[in-house]
Amino acid sequence: MADYDYDVLVIGAGPGGYVAAIRAAQLGLKTACAEGRATLGGTCLNVGCIPSKALLHASEYFDAANGDTMAKMGIKVKPELDLDTMQDQRKDAVKGLTGGIEFLFKKNKVDWLKGYAQFKDAHTVEVDGKTYSAKNVVIATGSSVTPLPGVEIDNDKGVVVDSTGALELSSVPKKMVVIGGGVIGLELGSVWRRLGAEVTVVEFLDQLLPGMDMDVRKEASKIFKKQGMTLKLGTKVTGVDVKGKKAKISVEPAKGGDAETIDADVVLVSIGRRPNTEGLGLDKIGLELNQRGQIETDHDFATKVDGVWAIGDVIPGPMLAHKAEDEGLAVAENIAGMTGIVNHDVIPGVVYTQPEIAGVGLTEEAAKERGKVKVGKFPMLANSRAKTNHEPDGFVKVIADAETDRVLGVWCIASVAGTMIAQAAQAMEFGATSEDIAYTCHAHPTHSEAIKEAAMAVTGKPIHI
Ligand code: FAD
Ligand code: NAD
Repeated sequence: MADYDYDVLVIGAGPGGYVAAIRAAQLGLKTACAEGRATLGGTCLNVGCIPSKALLHASEYFDAANGDTMAKMGIKVKPELDLDTMQDQRKDAVKGLTGGIEFLFKKNKVDWLKGYAQFKDAHTVEVDGKTYSAKNVVIATGSSVTPLPGVEIDNDKGVVVDSTGALELSSVPKKMVVIGGGVIGLELGSVWRRLGAEVTVVEFLDQLLPGMDMDVRKEASKIFKKQGMTLKLGTKVTGVDVKGKKAKISVEPAKGGDAETIDADVVLVSIGRRPNTEGLGLDKIGLELNQRGQIETDHDFATKVDGVWAIGDVIPGPMLAHKAEDEGLAVAENIAGMTGIVNHDVIPGVVYTQPEIAGVGLTEEAAKERGKVKVGKFPMLANSRAKTNHEPDGFVKVIADAETDRVLGVWCIASVAGTMIAQAAQAMEFGATSEDIAYTCHAHPTHSEAIKEAAMAVTGKPIHI
């Protein structure tokens, strides 16, 4: 490989890029990874999955102590919020994990090229004024928040913020308006509601959480309302007027109708994310984007340009860290001449609210478009562990092909749905039928028994309901 500085040069050190770089190095390829951020780990570790979960976890404890959850179990406490400490433990989690990636790079001899990379040609990139050549270049540049036209995000001012700004708030807003009832809006809205903010979610569509099963979306709305969030569904934001430390949000029904304004101390813009491709110099290598601004690849993650590959949020598919990671493994294996595969039909998604909301595979609506289905449902209210733990909300739903009984999708709302969904994903990966799940022995008493019971309900034979 004397002609190139590296066998593999990865652009971006998020969960897609850092995993691709480490796997490539493990497979004996000389590897570098360019990252412009001051720390490795990408959106996920720095300003995404990890810091949001640190705040979700801590605020959940606060909420449990503050509301009647602990009191119901005979623990009477009056919590006092120390937001600085809560924020410090978030920063500690990020520091520990991003530092861990730096350690893994050193351990696996991956060179970190510090700076933003730009293509000179398909095998040459420039990083911080220096050029590097590589036989293979993997684009793993991730995504950034989609702006709302006419609404200026200013995280430093802290009034109109994106998810990064919403993680950094130094005081609990009295009133918070969340624009977009998707994953980010509900997770970060939940954090600040639990800590005392009055939260209003403005969602353009008629239901929260697009892409999820309709039963789940409807149930989620009920649960968030019960928790005290105000939901304005089917509503569009027409403007945000900021005066000093206050904002006035103008909204009107999406289908037309009377306008109104909502006051807020903090406005979170969370209407989706878009791929990071600007400034990469893709024109220099003749790589075009699709209509959604994404880089298209084949099943091996190769782009149309020889030697250039792409993975993660910058390519089509759900914008999820574990999807990016699996693509990172696969692309490195494909570059090394092995067979790296990702089954995009079985990628679980989890919303880390309380209860958690999780799903894998097809929604009932999508499954019905393909043919006849059988559906089994089981409420968490009838699950002994959930009942014992005072966690009555939610259900499990198993969708199976009516003829073959093969499981097509599983959806859960439960306190530990994110953990429960792993067994559903594994069962689907192995081509399981609902009967396979129903006849698998599940430990008692666990929330996971609800998956077994929902699978039993597919053939009409649950026991505990
Ligand atoms: P990224 O993680 O975005 O990493 C790309 C990296 O490339 C960045 O560090 C960027 O600085 C760098 N870069 C960009 N351009 C260049 C360049 N030209 N040169 C060098 N470097 C460059 N997903 C989950 O699965 N679970 C969660 O709980 C979850 N929570 C989230 C919470 C929030 C608030 C947000 C915003 C996202 C969350 N996500 C979650 C989504 C997840 O973060 C992304 O799907 C994931 O990070 C995508 O990984 P990636 O490697 O494709 O890109
Ligand atoms: P999203 O796509 O999940 O939700 C955006 C919401 O905004 C949608 O419901 C959409 O209908 C609504 N919307 C769009 N334009 C609007 C407008 N003008 N007014 C009102 N509502 C509007 O996007 P997100 O919440 O910003 O998250 C971005 C990505 O990050 C997601 O793809 C998600 O996969 C990822 N993420 C994942 C997790 C997780 O896995 N737990 C957590 C956070 C983020």
